[in-house]
Amino acid sequence: MAIALVTGATKGLGRETARRLAAEGNTVFVGARDSSRGKESAEELNCEAVQLDVDDNDSVAAAAEQIRQRFGRIDILVNNAGIGGPLKRINEVSADDLQEAFNTNTFGVVRMMHAFIPLLELSENPVVVNVSSGLGSMTLCNAPTTFEFTVPGLAYHASKSALNMLTVQYSKAYPNFKINAVDPGFTATDINGNQGSQTVEQGVEVIVRMALIGPDGPTGGFFHARGSLPW
Ligand code: NAP
Repeated sequence: MAIALVTGATKGLGRETARRLAAEGNTVFVGARDSSRGKESAEELNCEAVQLDVDDNDSVAAAAEQIRQRFGRIDILVNNAGIGGPLKRINEVSADDLQEAFNTNTFGVVRMMHAFIPLLELSENPVVVNVSSGLGSMTLCNAPTTFEFTVPGLAYHASKSALNMLTVQYSKAYPNFKINAVDPGFTATDINGNQGSQTVEQGVEVIVRMALIGPDGPTGGFFHARGSLPW
């Protein structure tokens, strides 16, 4: 069975992803900024806990070292941790606001990849799932008939578009990995004040499916529950 790590897994989509992957018989690390919440979640979900703040290089390096010492490799990395960005009118959004969103949603994934690629390279079937958003799709945000068209925003949207580009570039650089971006869809979690129209069980369907793809699965793609999405 696979060794998996889900970042931001004490609540929302990350927690449900960890629960599902563990229920399939995999060894799953719950990444948690807060160690005590991480331990609590890990016990409840039959997982292991690892302290992990994706904004913090030292925390990311220590998490990679903990997993390396325990298992020597990782098979599945789910880059799920994310923040919503400011609820402001576009003309009030500052560069600092973008920096904050990018620091977690985009640079956090770069920190994770930098630390974990050496462990993924030791897997027979390395898989990375980047939890992006339809709001990062320039095509959807620019198509008047879509939900994404109706949601204004700079920081979150741009940080997820950049994450999509990271997905493309990492997937080309590591052709023997499966590295894909997914949009879970509008799901009721804290990130949107629980306003989402889907449950977390529905939201994680595509995350779990792409986490468990085999060696013949796609790479360098962008998917939601019903298939491919345009970038
Ligand atoms: P959520 O309930 O707010 O969960 C976000 C998770 O990310 C929390 O566990 C949080 O940890 C963690 N996190 C935030 N900053 C972190 C950091 N610096 N280091 C480590 N963990 C950090 O929201 P969610 O909806 O489950 O979001 C999960 C992912 O899905 C995000 O990437 C989000 O952009 C994406 N997404 C969500 C929706 C939706 O409708 N819900 C739609 C599309 C994409 P704490 O508990 O410590 O705060």
